[in-house]
Amino acid sequence: MHTGRLVLTPQDPYLVPEDPASLFDALRDIGLITSPLEAEQGYLLGEAFMQLITFMGCSPFIRLQPDQSGEPFCHLRVDGPHSEPILLTGKNSLPPRCKACRKRISDWQSEPQQLAECPHCGHRQDPASYDFKQSAGFGRFLLKIENIFPQEAIPSPRLLEFLQQASNGAPWHHFYQQD
Ligand SMILES: [Zn+2]
Repeated sequence: MHTGRLVLTPQDPYLVPEDPASLFDALRDIGLITSPLEAEQGYLLGEAFMQLITFMGCSPFIRLQPDQSGEPFCHLRVDGPHSEPILLTGKNSLPPRCKACRKRISDWQSEPQQLAECPHCGHRQDPASYDFKQSAGFGRFLLKIENIFPQEAIPSPRLLEFLQQASNGAPWHHFYQQD
């Protein structure tokens, strides 16, 4: 059963780290990832994964390698860099809130770089800057920790700090996508 993923991406949906290769070297150095996957653009998770990502339940069973059961396992998938922000949504997604009046916009737009008008207050904003409260998100460069259920695990402050340092001080955030 595939549950979904934890997605890490720069808070600025247009931002791509200058040098993704050196970012992955750094993530390998701190033990988040190890060897590259063969089947897709991504990595196996490293020995510090359980310290850098905090699981909320008690002693969860986390599979970190593919095995004969064929069950899905946690690994990191790389999505991007894309030429413009892409939107990731899932079963868990909620309508975003307007930046100005904070009301939910049920008829929200999914195309970045065009101003969408809030039906409540008329405020116009780029949909890429919508706040989905961790239930969806836009990005040009997304790191997906596969096989994590919404809210099951959160990135540690140390990991977010590390990602920020590795991308010239640009802050990162996370959200969840449920299949
Ligand atoms: Zn509004």
